Amino acid sequence: MGSINETILPENIDGKALLEKYREERDKRLRDEGIFQYRDVSADSSLKHFAEDPWSTPVVREPLNQDIEFAIIGGGFGGLLLAARLTEAGIHDFKIFDRAGDFGGTWYWNRYPGAACDIESYIYMPLCEELNYVPSAKYAPAPEIFQHAKNIGKHYGLLTRWIVLTNRGDKIRARYVATAGGPLTKPKLPGVEGIEKFKGHSFHTGRWDYSYSGGSWEGNLSGLAGKKVGVIGTGATGVQVTPHLAASAGHLYVFQRTPPAVDVRNDSPTDPQWAGSLTKGWQQRRMDNFTTIVEGGHQDEDLVNDGWTHIFRSLAPSGEMVKKFNSGSDAARNVQLAWEEADNMTMERIRRRVDSIVHDPEKAKSLKAWYRRFCKRPCFHDVYLDIFNRNNVTLVDTDGRGVERITENGIVANGEEIELDCIVYATGFEYGTDYSRRLGATVRGRNGVKLSDHFQNGFRSLHGYYVRGFPNYFIISLSQSGGNPNQVFMLNEQAKHLAWLMTELKARNATKVEASEQAEQTWVETIIELAKLRESFFRECTPSFFNDEGKLTTKGILQTRYGLGTLVYMKLIEEWKQEGDFRGLEIDGKLLTDKPIQTRPTEKNVEQGAAVPKFG
Ligand code: NDP
Repeated sequence: MGSINETILPENIDGKALLEKYREERDKRLRDEGIFQYRDVSADSSLKHFAEDPWSTPVVREPLNQDIEFAIIGGGFGGLLLAARLTEAGIHDFKIFDRAGDFGGTWYWNRYPGAACDIESYIYMPLCEELNYVPSAKYAPAPEIFQHAKNIGKHYGLLTRWIVLTNRGDKIRARYVATAGGPLTKPKLPGVEGIEKFKGHSFHTGRWDYSYSGGSWEGNLSGLAGKKVGVIGTGATGVQVTPHLAASAGHLYVFQRTPPAVDVRNDSPTDPQWAGSLTKGWQQRRMDNFTTIVEGGHQDEDLVNDGWTHIFRSLAPSGEMVKKFNSGSDAARNVQLAWEEADNMTMERIRRRVDSIVHDPEKAKSLKAWYRRFCKRPCFHDVYLDIFNRNNVTLVDTDGRGVERITENGIVANGEEIELDCIVYATGFEYGTDYSRRLGATVRGRNGVKLSDHFQNGFRSLHGYYVRGFPNYFIISLSQSGGNPNQVFMLNEQAKHLAWLMTELKARNATKVEASEQAEQTWVETIIELAKLRESFFRECTPSFFNDEGKLTTKGILQTRYGLGTLVYMKLIEEWKQEGDFRGLEIDGKLLTDKPIQTRPTEKNVEQGAAVPKFG
């Protein structure tokens, strides 16, 4: 609990020895199969029940036959923001499609006990000012975020535009289509044998089974009383759910492949006086302030002041540090060296935090993370580490190997079978696999070409939005676009951008927009070229979905964001808009200019800071 403890900061670290240790730990975890190691839960797999919707019963209705202006695929924050921004731009003829039974996207699916967003709610929950709403706490609980998504639907009158997808023979013709499928939606299971054989009860955190566990988001999982429960996965989800399992299960076994690096979260309820003092534009200002800091920029005041901004403030090379390394002529390399030293300090502080909480030194040793802060998604939790002091919790550390197999009776790890009544899979979501596969929909362009075929060698776009051969189709995702830990920030910017585009097209009486072949190719090459700035960082990293599980591929790289960061990307897009000639886009089949697209904004020296890895 409490705030970040600077007093446990180390004084001197042997960077070389540390790097050796990081490499040794990484090598234990590298697997030939990379991202393909996981078990599939697709509709045609034997594990499909792990992805079924526990929250809604299928809607029975007549097939629809309609013409509409705009179809939005995805009812999470991406789709909702697009709907909201289109509405504000006076465009009302749209419908939202989703396979889920309600709005909310990730918050519809992820209802596990303890679920919350560890990005501050005041910047994460979108459209707060529009809805005249201030979240209840710095880190609002998942049910509140889900309710907020539904409230956005109500506020903008979106409920009448909501259609549950459908293998029901619907025929809906739309002039424009956007897919906002979310980056982490398709549950995955560990790549081991025997998952089907287990005779006890098991489910994925993204489909929590309260009918078995009892209790609620707040915990009190009475159904687990006296039961032997195993949880596989110690990522951002694992650290949130495991304390509730520990509190309710007869005995809990935590199966760990790689220890998470868990820093302080420090939640607090919203101060009503502060909420009352907020002035117009507060949310955008706060979002912008956070974005600037986490992109390595300077702000006089850190408005969010949380674990994320602390990392970036402490990782950002201080004047002193840069001076220390500023002997050579390669400025980018000097900045990088300074970052590495700051990273060493941060990670050592987080490792010492484990010692300060976990009593048993052997357990504490197993819980220490040996990789750089941004090799994996940072975790924040105030009581996760404490559970390892409980008598009913066993840490099964597999030293990078992972669980070996599932049997009828339980889990085999480190050569030993542990009998269990229940297995909870906190094993995350597919990332890096084909875009259409994760979307769960087949998108076809001109001449019936499938998006998955167009993306055969990786994601292709202009600016992340437009795809050659797919006129009037837009993608809302972080790939080849901007993006920072507060993903909703970018979704909002993208929604505003597409609403602007629609208004522009209307003003020109245009009805068709498509990336030119040349522009798409240039953008793809730019993404690959800029990714080289971060390549060596990710190659050194322990496997995670940030680096294609340690097997960095061009296909994986093409799913990443524009390599100079969100602010530079936004500047580039702003300049593109100001030019007014839609460079790289064919409008009604014609390019308005022959000029090639810009791949950097006119600002000088944008490349220097990008040598520093920021966020996957
Ligand atoms: P992750 O993919 O981050 O974690 C999966 C876990 O399963 C890892 O600990 C992984 O180990 C483990 N695992 C996989 N295979 C095996 C195996 N064979 N044996 C043992 N362990 C195994 O999934 P999460 O659901 O935790 O998080 C996914 C993303 O969702 C996050 O990165 C974040 O973006 C988002 N999220 C955000 C939250 C928020 O508060 N904003 C909260 C929760 C999730 P290993 O580390 O070795 O790969």
